[in-house]
Amino acid sequence: MKIIDAHIHFCREPYFDQIAELAGHKNTSEHLKSRYAAHNIVQGVVMGNRGLQLSEHQYPDYLSYCVGLDSTCFKAEEAVQQAYWVEKHLQRKNCVGIKLYPGYNHFYIYDPSVDPFYQLAMQYKKPVAVHTGLTATSNALLKYSHPMVLDEAAVRYPQVQFVMCHIGNPWLVDAIAVIGKNKNVAADLSGILEGRIDSMPDFFARKHGYINFFKTWLEYLDDYDRLLYGTDWPLANIANYIEFVAHIIPERHHDKVFFDNANRIYDLGL
Ligand SMILES: [Zn+2]
Repeated sequence: MKIIDAHIHFCREPYFDQIAELAGHKNTSEHLKSRYAAHNIVQGVVMGNRGLQLSEHQYPDYLSYCVGLDSTCFKAEEAVQQAYWVEKHLQRKNCVGIKLYPGYNHFYIYDPSVDPFYQLAMQYKKPVAVHTGLTATSNALLKYSHPMVLDEAAVRYPQVQFVMCHIGNPWLVDAIAVIGKNKNVAADLSGILEGRIDSMPDFFARKHGYINFFKTWLEYLDDYDRLLYGTDWPLANIANYIEFVAHIIPERHHDKVFFDNANRIYDLGL
């Protein structure tokens, strides 16, 4: 089975190097490429960090990226100038979307200041991925990263394809409500695991209630055309993650969730 990893980070920073070690990996392109080859992962989609300079966003050919408005660069009052640079990214073939980090940057994604980015997403027909759910830092604010914020954005911008990153975890019920109601919202399943898990059967036994809850609400949604495999590399171990997603998604939907949906939504042309 071919796989697309629809959510990774690709930064050489001490924080990312450290979490890669905890996941049993090395945060280098060579290592990532070799792990991808070992698991038949044919493409990764980088969620951008480190600002908007074009020169900061050079990626090997097995990676595409979403231009990221992270806390190092997003300022609502500078959205017009930033949109100029975001457009330069969107004109690149390997830039397949825009990534927003509202919990970290303290803004509601339906705020009018975000308008210029949605206009560009519509113009270039590229999706807007949004971090939802828990955050990695405590100075982030969860009211901005709650999956419910996608509802108003999806209604205001029906032509924009949204990707709810991390499926709002742990607000899974709220996330499913938003995805079920809004056909222009998909979700990636990244960022649920972290570190390296020695025994997945043990993990499934220990987290039995949570895993069943997750599966229950995915079954309730019953729409496997809008769920994307993703890891949040280098946060999690790649072999663990494939096993995890294969466990929570019924086997007849694996091709869609592991490959087809990301290929279509990010228009990867694979
Ligand atoms: Zn991420």
